[in-house]
Amino acid sequence: LPYKGEIYMKLIIASNNAHKVSEIKAILGCFYDEILSLREAGIDMDVVEDADTFEGNALKKAREEFSVADADAVLSDDSGLMVDALGGAPGVYSARYAGEGHDDAANNAKLLDALRDVPDEKRTARFCTSVALIRRGMPAVTADGSVEGVILHSPQGENGFGYDPLFYYEPLKKSFAQLTPEEKNSVSHRRRALESLCDKLRAEK
Ligand code: IMP
Repeated sequence: LPYKGEIYMKLIIASNNAHKVSEIKAILGCFYDEILSLREAGIDMDVVEDADTFEGNALKKAREEFSVADADAVLSDDSGLMVDALGGAPGVYSARYAGEGHDDAANNAKLLDALRDVPDEKRTARFCTSVALIRRGMPAVTADGSVEGVILHSPQGENGFGYDPLFYYEPLKKSFAQLTPEEKNSVSHRRRALESLCDKLRAEK
């Protein structure tokens, strides 16, 4: 069972993003004795994210990293933005929407252009995350989280990353880039997916 007990349990997070790693450590710390990023675990392996769903990519990443990891479990996540007026795009292509090697500004410019003629009431969107946990001798567990918003007509705010400056979050009346990191973490798609994963792990006991 994935709880702290007689057996020392080590989890590797399939990421080197310091922000993600610290958020995951805080949320899953109760289930594992030791939680390491890929770098901390000495793993340098690039997994090609070519599945057509967030869950598929998260599972692929966790399975491949688990196969080379000296750990009891590997956790991975995959996220993106789904815009209703674009049939769910950019979705799993969120990081490379404007093409391989393009940055956040290019992705945001392409999104604004694609939505140029779309009126406010049809600019609904959501950030989605799937997380996958692969464990030695235990079934895989996956969980999803999402947060609803509306795509703005121009970037607002300086915080965050990716599509945050274009993602207006109605409950706080700010774009995600206008939230403090703490505010964003408390409502983010990633947080919701991780909490759902925790609920599933607790239900196993
Ligand atoms: P990743 O799977 O978490 O690396 O996310 C893939 C891409 O989705 C990122 O490169 C961003 O373009 C977008 N994305 C994911 N999460 C967020 C977020 O919280 N804010 C803004 N953009 C995000």
